[in-house]
Formats: sequence, C-alpha cells, structure tokens
Amino acid sequence: MDFSKIGRMFIGGKWVSSNNTREIINPSNGKVFAKVYEGSPQDVKLSVKAAKEAFAQWSAASVTYRADMLFKIADLIEKNSRELAEIDTLNNGKPLRDSLGDVADSVSCFRYYAGLIDKPLGQVYNVADPNTQSIVVREPIGVCGQITPWNYPLMMASWKLAPCLAAGNVSVFKPSELTPLSAIRLFEIFEEAGLPAGVANLAMGAGNTVGREISENLEIDKVAFTGGTVTGRNIMRSAAENMKNISLELGGKSPCIVFDDYDLDTAIDWALFAIFCNQGEVCSAGSRLILQDTIYDKFLDALAKRAAAIKIADGMQEGAEMGPLVSKEHLDKVLSYIETGKKEGARLVCGGFRITEGSFADGFFVAPTVFADCKPDMKIVQDEIFGPVLAVQKFHTQQEAIDLANNTKYGLAAGVFSNDITRALKVIKAVRAGITWVNSYHPTFAQAPWGGFKQSGIGRELGTFGLDEYTEVKQININLAPGKVGWFA
Ligand code: NAD
Repeated sequence: MDFSKIGRMFIGGKWVSSNNTREIINPSNGKVFAKVYEGSPQDVKLSVKAAKEAFAQWSAASVTYRADMLFKIADLIEKNSRELAEIDTLNNGKPLRDSLGDVADSVSCFRYYAGLIDKPLGQVYNVADPNTQSIVVREPIGVCGQITPWNYPLMMASWKLAPCLAAGNVSVFKPSELTPLSAIRLFEIFEEAGLPAGVANLAMGAGNTVGREISENLEIDKVAFTGGTVTGRNIMRSAAENMKNISLELGGKSPCIVFDDYDLDTAIDWALFAIFCNQGEVCSAGSRLILQDTIYDKFLDALAKRAAAIKIADGMQEGAEMGPLVSKEHLDKVLSYIETGKKEGARLVCGGFRITEGSFADGFFVAPTVFADCKPDMKIVQDEIFGPVLAVQKFHTQQEAIDLANNTKYGLAAGVFSNDITRALKVIKAVRAGITWVNSYHPTFAQAPWGGFKQSGIGRELGTFGLDEYTEVKQININLAPGKVGWFA
C-alpha cells in the first residue's frame, strides 16, 4: 500500500474522495504516516443508493457464483498476508505476529462462508393440515450497515463482510476512523476479485457523523455493529426508527477462574495470554482473574514476574510480544483507570505506568499491570478498561468463584482451569457468558458462534449462527389440495 497517497472511499465500484482528510497515526511513535479522506453522511447515502441498485442482481446470483467470489477474495487476502499484517501493525500498534494471525483468521472466515452457502439451510414442516406442505427458506435481508472497532481492523471487517455477502446481502461498511487502512486494502482486493459494483461500499469517517447516519438511515435494513456498549445502546435506539434488524457485539469484563488442582505454571501462562495478548485490547480479554485462596500468593508472585518480563516493543520489531495502545486518547483512558485502581485501594503488584524511556517516548505504551486484592464493587473490576490491566480476586468455594464471575453487567467470555472436569463443566455452565473455555482461553474458530450474554450484545457472529444473522426466515405454504377455500358463501 502506498501511504503517500490519500486513502479513498469505495462507493458504487469507484474510488472517491471528499473535502476533508484525517491523519492516521502510528501508535508506536505517535507520528502521522498516512492520510485518508473523511466521509460525511452524504457518502453513506450514496453508498446506500449504490448498494440498493446492486442488491437485485447479487441476491439472485447463484450460490456457486457468490462462493467462487468469496474463495477468490480469501485467496487474495492470503496472497497479500504480509502486506495486510504490516498495515494493521503500523495502524493499530499490535505485534506483527498478532496481525499475521488476524490475516489468517480473515482468510478462514471468507473460506468458511464461501463453503457454507451451498449447504442445506432450509427446513420442511409437516403442519397440522395434511393438505399443506410448509417449507422454510432463508433470504437475504437487504442493505446492511456494518460498523467495526479498531482492535482487530481486518479481522472485524472480515467477520462482518464474509457472512453478509455470502448470504446475498449488500453492504455499507464503516471501519473505525482510527484504523481504516486495512479496510481500504481489503476493498482493493474486492475490486481485483471482480466483486460487482455496489455490492460492498466503504464509507469512512467518524462515529457521530458517518456511523450515526448508518444507524439512522431509513433505507438500511440491518445494522451489524461491533464496538463499545454505550455506542451499541445508541445504535439500538436509532435502529428503532425503521425497526432495523440489529446485531451487536459489545464489550466485556470476562473472568478467568483458576482452581488449585491445575498445574500452576500452565495456568499462569494462560492467564497472561488471556489479559495481555493484543495489549489487552480484546473484547473477550480475561481481565478479571479469579484465583483459589490456596494458590493465591504463589500464583500472584509468579504472574507478576512473568508479566514484567513481557517484551514490549514497536509492533514491527522482531520478537515484539506487546505493542502500544491504539491512540493517545485511549492511553489516557487506561492510565486514568490505573489511577482509579490505586485510589480504590487495590494492591498494585506490577506495572501501573506509561513507558516513556528512549524510543518509547512518543509511543502509547503501558506496562502490563496487575492489581491484586480487588473487591467486587471496584470500578477496575466492573468497567471494561480495554488495556493491559488485570484485576485479581480471591475465592474459597466453587460457589464463590461463580458468584464473583457473574458479578458484572457483561457476559461475553469466561475461562475455567481445573483438572476436575466435572467441576470445570459445572462452573462454566453456571457462568453467564456466550464464549467460554475449559483449560484454555481465547482460541476462536470461524465454525463456532461468537457473542455475548447480558450487556455484551445481541446476536452471534461466525458459524452457522453468524450466517443466520444475515437472513430473514420465510415460510412458504404449498396447498396440496388445490380448490376454493369456500369461506364466504
Ligand atoms: P466504539 O464503540 O467507540 O466505536 C466502534 C465503532 O463505532 C467505530 O467505527 C466508531 O466510529 C463507531 N461509532 C462511534 N459512535 C457511533 C455512533 N454514535 N453511531 C454509530 N457508530 C458509532 O468502540 P471502539 O473504541 O472502537 O472499540 C472498543 C470496543 O469494542 C470495546 O468495548 C470492545 O469490547 C468492543 N469490541 C467488541 C467485540 C465483540 O466481538 N464483542 C470485538 C471487538 C471489540
């Protein structure tokens, strides 16, 4: 990608500019390295028009044609893996190994939905009347507005666009204004693959202008959103106006529960991964560690040593394990939560500061931070911090662990570590969360549904559930005894 050119939007099969531009910053050094055109509500309206025009043909196209197109897109993403990964690392800050993982996940997602759409999806019912055969088919919803956050730029775009297009819908897509670059490259790939004009449109810009227009536009049939719970609530309100179908993938404050029968070193390894991978900027991060009292002190000591040894560096640097946070604004938010934790009386066992020495001076780096002895009502236990900050709590009985785990407004993810499989299963079944792991944390698969309970969202992405979110269910009743109904004389 040529960063000296201003990144354009892609509307109705054409690359378009606007009167405003936005500077794109590398969070490792705080420097502007690219610029993109900043769209307006008018660009959303033009995208909707183009999408509506493309809908009839795309939705009626054979599933083989649509599958071939998605397979081609997957191949092109794979072919350009390194470039796409570098774009996300420069733009988001995450280590290159993380970005390469995101690209591989995006490839799997396009391939999975390409493969799914010609599989049986309908149902046949024998209804009360033996002379009626009822069949159920799934049809595309129409124009889908899709809005994504900055933490997994390419991957979130793929999770949205692959099932949407597979099911025969058309899209008006808006990436986060902070990280639009890999989406621009993805749309270049769409063009190269030969995706018909208007099927997918890229409208870039701020949430309160372009994003708001997507959620308010009366000609958009569905909004699929991933982002914060507060924004999700606003989108839900706007969607009420024309009863848009909505799916919301929102925030979390997910528990990672460790029992004393599990190998300590292994559990520490997973607990670190649960909170510190991707700088803690993960909706499903294991940001609350719930430890059995019998291992509490030993676990914390070893965890703090390992956290302090994580290699923090510019994401492009070989061997980087953790990069900077995405922006100065987000850095300030995370630092203010660290101050809150100190004021609330949580015990800081490692980190708790911005790293500024030497080459880190202008980047947005925060040391991996662990707070022990956290109480259930502390803000650092209840709020999603979305950074490398772990809140640790102690439990004695199994029921206490479950109660602590369920004690937030969120219900996105959870993990439990125990060698007693009966206990592990009982605990995970009692935790109110949509994505859970036993003796692991984080692995995610295109085949399995992703989404949360409670205020973590509505609906599911990925798997067959993810395709269902982009379809309307239609019943067709066939009269097997044709003739008059004879109701009126
Ligand atoms: P955010 O809610 O601030 O922004 C997300 C997107 O919404 C951006 O594209 C933004 O421009 C847009 N937006 C903002 N205001 C809007 C409005 N009024 N109307 C329409 N669109 C608007 O979130 P963020 O800071 O970019 O991302 C972090 C959040 O995303 C965290 O809460 C995280 O948990 C969540 N997230 C959830 C999942 C999941 O699968 N559940 C995955 C990744 C991130």
